[in-house]
Amino acid sequence: MLSNCFITTQVTDLASTSVVEVKCSKCKHAYEADVIDHIDLSEDRDLIKPLKSGKANRVQCPKCKKVMYLDRSIVVNFEPENVIVVFDKKARTTAAKESLMEDYRNVVSFNEILSEVAEETEFTIITKLDKLKVMLDDYLKAHN
Ligand SMILES: [Zn+2]
Repeated sequence: MLSNCFITTQVTDLASTSVVEVKCSKCKHAYEADVIDHIDLSEDRDLIKPLKSGKANRVQCPKCKKVMYLDRSIVVNFEPENVIVVFDKKARTTAAKESLMEDYRNVVSFNEILSEVAEETEFTIITKLDKLKVMLDDYLKAHN
């Protein structure tokens, strides 16, 4: 999943979403929900707000209306700053961060164009929403 995001990030400029199967924690109903995998800030301004409020991975059970927040990583492309941020609340340990870095390296070594892009790109892993908020606010200030 993450690998696809990096490729999407570099090749196209569209937000990418995917459909995931969710099982409601309250009524156990299984349903499908659209979730965000990747956001390009220069294209998807309207997604900044849900991202800042932590609602980017919010899903709601159609049956009992129970709201859940999924534990998924989101790739955020700060353009034109050439910064790629992986927002992943679970990546708290050095090992988890290292594994994300490894994924990224594997993807960018996939072809020459991606390798060249990667040389000019800063890759950051963020685990705290507060830190992501600060970056998003700075971005909005700089590009309004
Ligand atoms: Zn439910």
